Amino acid sequence: MVDSTSRAWSTKAVAAGRPARIPDSPLNAPIVPASSFYAGGVMEYAREAAPTSEALETALAALESGRHAVVYSSGMAAANALMDLIPPGGSVVASSATYTGVRVRLEELHGRGTIRLTQVGIDDTDAVFAALDAASTIAGTPTLWLESPTNPLLEVADLPAILDHARSVGARSVIDNTFATPARQRPLELGADAVLHSVTKAISGHSDLLLGAVVVSDDDMAEALRTRRVLLGAAPSAFDSFLALRGLRTLAIRMDRAEASAQELVTRLRNAPGISRIRYPGWGSLIAIEVDSPPDVIDAMCARAEVWTYATSLGGVESLIERRRRWPLESVGVPENLVRLSVGIEDVDDLWTDLSTILSTR
Ligand code: PLP
Repeated sequence: MVDSTSRAWSTKAVAAGRPARIPDSPLNAPIVPASSFYAGGVMEYAREAAPTSEALETALAALESGRHAVVYSSGMAAANALMDLIPPGGSVVASSATYTGVRVRLEELHGRGTIRLTQVGIDDTDAVFAALDAASTIAGTPTLWLESPTNPLLEVADLPAILDHARSVGARSVIDNTFATPARQRPLELGADAVLHSVTKAISGHSDLLLGAVVVSDDDMAEALRTRRVLLGAAPSAFDSFLALRGLRTLAIRMDRAEASAQELVTRLRNAPGISRIRYPGWGSLIAIEVDSPPDVIDAMCARAEVWTYATSLGGVESLIERRRRWPLESVGVPENLVRLSVGIEDVDDLWTDLSTILSTR
């Protein structure tokens, strides 16, 4: 096994989670399709552990600078496992703008009285501090649950300051790092307790699977998260784990390329007519634009794209475009005319020609 702990991040992305260097063993973790393993070992049953997903877990833990990763059948399954660790009646401070599924689920738990939810704008650091201070006066360990950048408003939190404050009031922090990816941000290094990923997105990178993961350093929390996988039944398939591991090998170069194109597109969009706002943190592969047209016109515009693909999701090699409020559960805080652009790795001039054409023929 290569000790990649002291190596650069992009080297770890290539090296981590490989089989031992024994003559004739394969370079890549093989796909092991099995529900049951001969008794007497550590695997036993695939909801508990399985070789292909363990290889992916080894790689994800290395990439996020954690001691353990636990992989689930989707990002939402991973999020639900984390939500299950919140003590009954526990207080949760979460971003008011956040991925729809996570927000709706937290609101559901609040509505049932399972948790006490406070939603804050994460780019208002003082408001996050105040919400954490208030949460810490309620019995039990409070939870801080943030995305940064947020989906789809692309707000950015002052993570070092917020994580510092969360720790000082005894809160457990969960950072959804799906948008930034460990190529751009490693929250455990900043003091977070858990990192959540929709592996479906940039980590796997090819829009061909659903997977989720939580990365932590605390041994007890890792064990509790594994138990949640067993009891919630949210185990990943061997084939999807293999594909995700194969995909993450190229995350560094996919991210560099997509980010460079996103930066160039933002520069060109600044001179494009009929756009009232461009949201872009300055880095990453996601852009959100507000288009001066009614929703039906914007939807038709997205459908006319030829290089861009009119589809939901993000982080894949192919560039995707969609108006987020076409989803009935999307937050009302997201403008009706907000179009999310997930920049892939196509030629930037082709992306621009297609985008400027659909924008100018609304
Ligand atoms: N977190 C974020 C930021 C997301 O964007 C998504 C999905 O879009 C999820 C979590 C849920 O992941 P999945 O779709 O893999 O269940």
